Amino acid sequence: MITFGPVPSRRLGRSLGVNNIPKKVCSYDCVYCQIGKTKLLSVERREFFKIDEILKEVSDKSRNSEYDYITFVPDGEPTLDINLGQEIKALKDLGKIAVITNASLLWVEGVREALHHADWVSVKLDAARKGTWKKIDRPHFSLSFEKVLEGILEFSKQFEGTLVTETMIISEFNDSEKDLVEIAKLLEKINPKTAYISVPTRPPAYSVKPASDETLDLAYVMISSRGIDVEILSKPEVGSFEIGDDPKKGILSITAVHPMRESDLKKALEDKGYDFSIVEELLQEKKLEVLEYGGVRFYRKR
Ligand code: SF4
Repeated sequence: MITFGPVPSRRLGRSLGVNNIPKKVCSYDCVYCQIGKTKLLSVERREFFKIDEILKEVSDKSRNSEYDYITFVPDGEPTLDINLGQEIKALKDLGKIAVITNASLLWVEGVREALHHADWVSVKLDAARKGTWKKIDRPHFSLSFEKVLEGILEFSKQFEGTLVTETMIISEFNDSEKDLVEIAKLLEKINPKTAYISVPTRPPAYSVKPASDETLDLAYVMISSRGIDVEILSKPEVGSFEIGDDPKKGILSITAVHPMRESDLKKALEDKGYDFSIVEELLQEKKLEVLEYGGVRFYRKR
C-alpha cells in the first residue's frame, strides 16, 4: 500500500501518509533511523510507482479520512521519486501537502522545483560539520557536504511555503558543544519557521543513545538565542492510528514507516472491533517483527 493512516503527527496534526519510496531506498543510512538500516543506498532519482497509481490510492483513501496534511514520508527518501513534483501538484486539490526530506538532494534544481509546490517542508539538519554528518547520517559516497548545505540554503531563500528543520541529537555523535554551536549558526542562516530538536522515540537502526535532557536544553538555548523558534520533540506522538478496513494491510502499511507501540496497536485494533490475534498472525507469517526500546514493545514491518 502506498498510503497509510491517517496517523497522529507531533508536527502536523493528523497526517495521511504517502509512502512513495518502497523498501528503504535512501541516500542516507542514519544511525537512528526508525525503519531500520538502509537496504539500498542510492542517489539515483527514478520512478518507483506510476503517478496514476499514487494518485488513485491517495484519492481513494482521502475520501474516508479526516486529516490535516497529506504527507510524503516514505520508507526512504521522498525526493528520490522523479515524479514527486507532479504528484504534489496533482494532490493539492485534496489538501495541504507536506514533505519530510533528508535534504541531501536539494542541490539538484529539479528537487527544489518539485518541493516548491508543497505547503510545508521539513529538512533534516543533523550536522554542520562534515565529519559529524558522515558519522550520524552515513551518506551515499557521492554526496558532497558542501553541496548539500548549499542546496538547503538555496531552497530556504526560494521556498514560499512553511519551512521547518529537524535535528536529531544523538549521544556521542552530534551532541558536543562545538557541534551544537555550528548547528545553531547554520540554522540562523536557514531561518526556518521552527527548528525542531528531537531524539529517537522508536528503536534506532544502530545501537545509539539519545542525547541527555541537559544537552537538549543547551541546544534549545543556543538556537533560540539566535532568534529562531525552537521546539523539542522528545515525547512520542499522542492520538489514534487509523488502520482502515483491512487491518493486516493497514498495520503493515503504517509499520513500514512508523513502528507502532503495542499500546497504540491495541487501541487501533479495538477502535475497529478487532483483537490482538491479527498481530499474532502477522508475527507467525513473518510479516511483522517485535523490537524493544526504552522498555516498550514496538512492532515493525519486516
Ligand atoms: S532517517 Fe530518513 S534519511 Fe535517515 S536513513 Fe532513515 S529514511 Fe533515510
